[in-house]
Amino acid sequence: MKDLFSLAGKVAIVTGGNGGIGKAIARGMASMGADVVIAARNEAKTAQAVEDIRKEFGARVIGVKVDLREEGQIKAMVREAVEAFGHIDILVNNAGTNIRKMPQDYAPAEWDEVLSTNLRGAFLCAQAVYPSMKAAGGGKIINIGSMTSIFGGAKLAPYGTSKGGIVQLTRSLAVAWAPDNIQVNAILPGWINTDLTRQARKELPGLEERVVSRTPVGRWGEPEELAGAAIFLASRAADFVTGVALPVDGGFSVML
Ligand code: NDP
Repeated sequence: MKDLFSLAGKVAIVTGGNGGIGKAIARGMASMGADVVIAARNEAKTAQAVEDIRKEFGARVIGVKVDLREEGQIKAMVREAVEAFGHIDILVNNAGTNIRKMPQDYAPAEWDEVLSTNLRGAFLCAQAVYPSMKAAGGGKIINIGSMTSIFGGAKLAPYGTSKGGIVQLTRSLAVAWAPDNIQVNAILPGWINTDLTRQARKELPGLEERVVSRTPVGRWGEPEELAGAAIFLASRAADFVTGVALPVDGGFSVML
């Protein structure tokens, strides 16, 4: 039982790890002893996150520039991670984007933008790390879903589709790769204070108050509150947990 949650000697890739929920999860992984690869597009933001996490935990952290819409860049990201640390044990598919419109107003390119980042990107990252995880004798994949994995919303057609898909992707990969000792799970965050939801507050008047009144704990969540669930699912403690979608939502998903 000792060190059940330790990630010492493990290597974790966190996509979108340069801010918001991803950075909080990357900090969580580093705090438990993992080496961390922060993968995102904005190099300045990534460099800052790398420096912050190195300073805070003395961890081995690198930043890799990747656009998840590009398969070649995903493969290069995994190559770079393996070159730096030798193996990959944990993948956190966290990067995500949203475009809010009524369904009738989306251009096909906008649909593709959201789906290729949130769902296709997550799938390609999982595919790309699979050989390394299999060779290492196992691994953990954590996909970040959303309350929109469960609920619908008027201005959420592509985002909700991508996040619903993330849950089914999680289940399919969990079943497929169970014999390889790779556990695949999803975390479904409730409403969390990040850049993404700062934008949502601007675009959806009254959102701030609606979230507070609709969430049983009566407040928004903070990115750091996702770290515990991610550490659990990345650790030995979750070796017999696979294919689940764990809400971390202040009770949002269980309230009528
Ligand atoms: P942020 O906007 O703060 O973070 C999004 C991250 O994704 C950034 O690090 C961004 O980095 C990265 N990213 C976006 N597009 C790409 C791309 N094409 N290639 C590589 N990286 C990309 O949002 P959050 O922290 O809020 O969101 C993180 C995850 O949590 C997302 O999947 C989101 O859908 C999910 N989520 C968030 C909720 C919330 O309330 N905040 C609720 C439920 C789910 P860069 O721009 O540098 O590429």
